[in-house]
Amino acid sequence: MRDTEVLVVGAGLAGLTCALRLEAAGVDVTVIEAGDAPGGRVRTDRVDGFLLDRGFQVLNPIYPRVRHYADVDELGLRSFTAGLALRSSRTPDLQILADPRREPQLIPQTLRSGKLHPASLAALTRWAGSALVSDWAIENLTGDDDTRAESMDRSGLIGPLRKVIDRYLAGVLLEDEGSTSTAFTRLMVRKLYRGVPGLPTGGMQALPDQLASKLVRPVELNTRAVEISPGRVRTEDEQEITADLVVVATDPIAAADLVGAPVPQGKGVTTHWFSADEAPTDLKMIVLDVRDEHGPVVDTCVISNVAPDYAPEGKHLIQASSLLPTNGSPVADDEVRKHVSEIYGVDASGWQLLRRDDIPYAVPAQPAPFVANRGMEIEPGLIVAGDWVDHASIQGAMVSGERAAEGWLHRLDGGQREMQDPVDTGL
Ligand SMILES: Cc1cc2nc3c(=O)[nH]c(=O)nc-3n(C[C@H](O)[C@H](O)[C@H](O)COP(=O)(O)OP(=O)(O)OC[C@H]3O[C@@H](n4cnc5c(N)ncnc54)[C@H](O)[C@@H]3O)c2cc1C
Repeated sequence: MRDTEVLVVGAGLAGLTCALRLEAAGVDVTVIEAGDAPGGRVRTDRVDGFLLDRGFQVLNPIYPRVRHYADVDELGLRSFTAGLALRSSRTPDLQILADPRREPQLIPQTLRSGKLHPASLAALTRWAGSALVSDWAIENLTGDDDTRAESMDRSGLIGPLRKVIDRYLAGVLLEDEGSTSTAFTRLMVRKLYRGVPGLPTGGMQALPDQLASKLVRPVELNTRAVEISPGRVRTEDEQEITADLVVVATDPIAAADLVGAPVPQGKGVTTHWFSADEAPTDLKMIVLDVRDEHGPVVDTCVISNVAPDYAPEGKHLIQASSLLPTNGSPVADDEVRKHVSEIYGVDASGWQLLRRDDIPYAVPAQPAPFVANRGMEIEPGLIVAGDWVDHASIQGAMVSGERAAEGWLHRLDGGQREMQDPVDTGL
């Protein structure tokens, strides 16, 4: 039996952020983690000289909690080009739709894409405007929340631009029926409007690795909690740890198992990782298929164009992601290979499949009405944290971890400390 002031179960981004905030305030914190490294859903493996993240994911450096807790410069982020490449049926080449503020040299190509009719741009501004202004608050977005499909229809956002947006959001939100909350979708769009995502040197795991390295007391790896009650945790290897506060910062399925927290519906994804001798394009962009008839891939890109260290010398790394429906069958490798051949207009039959990642619960669904800042206390002395408690993103996970810590510090201060705003303070 041993004792600590706060015990954090799970060293994903929520658990790490919680521990960092508490340590900064001088609290004695122990973090236990079932896996063999910190990071949770943000992990990277080295396979045959390639860096493979566990499912395609990116880091948006605009995330306020990332900027606050991580040294973003040290992550050596390599940015995507701020735009999309499109496989359409109109031209043999990929079409380009780029952000004119960031990629002015691509304005002529963007105009040639034929996606930017003035009426569509006006409708997009009507739909997204409230999320893009500098003076904003999440509360302004959550009033009468409905699904993104309903609100876009209402704004008159139709036609080719809508199709591009829908296809792009399918890869971001991991659903293609338009069922996600409008407020949440606008929040994601705001993040993308304000920041350009990238990939850290060494892979996505560089972020949790860096956070973990800042902790005074290292994360205890390979230590799985199997029984949790307020103030007490038993681990798989029969350790008993007592604590004034236990923070269950696991994924929602484990949290349901351990403390009976409700599991929000999740969204799944499959990422295929291919190696090729020749890159099918030199673009550093996400590539979408915007044809009416299309295969299962929601987005693809040549990762090594963006981050050369993801592939060994002379090789290229390509990711192709497809939705993984909860009750449907996972996509077949051949279908993906056929679809990427069509998207890039090359023969991908010779590409080597390095790995496929099937991730049934990648992120919690965010239906309308959007509720961030969920209650975290299960019982006094026992709280939960994680993206599913706040919102589905790296930022959401970190906000929830920070809020868990702030709640404890608030209690220690006898309620004197001011609680912070939820969700996206400072975005
Ligand atoms: C494929 C994919 C792509 C994504 N893309 C993006 C993206 O581009 N941008 C973005 O912002 N977000 C993205 N996300 C979402 C983001 O990664 C998550 O929201 C975030 O990492 C969740 O962090 P967390 O700490 O809440 O949970 P987790 O990362 O799930 O961490 C929970 C931790 O608890 C540990 N644990 C579980 N049970 C136990 C136990 N019994 N005892 C001890 N430890 C335990 C787990 O091993 C894990 O380390 C993506 C997620 C996936 C899967």
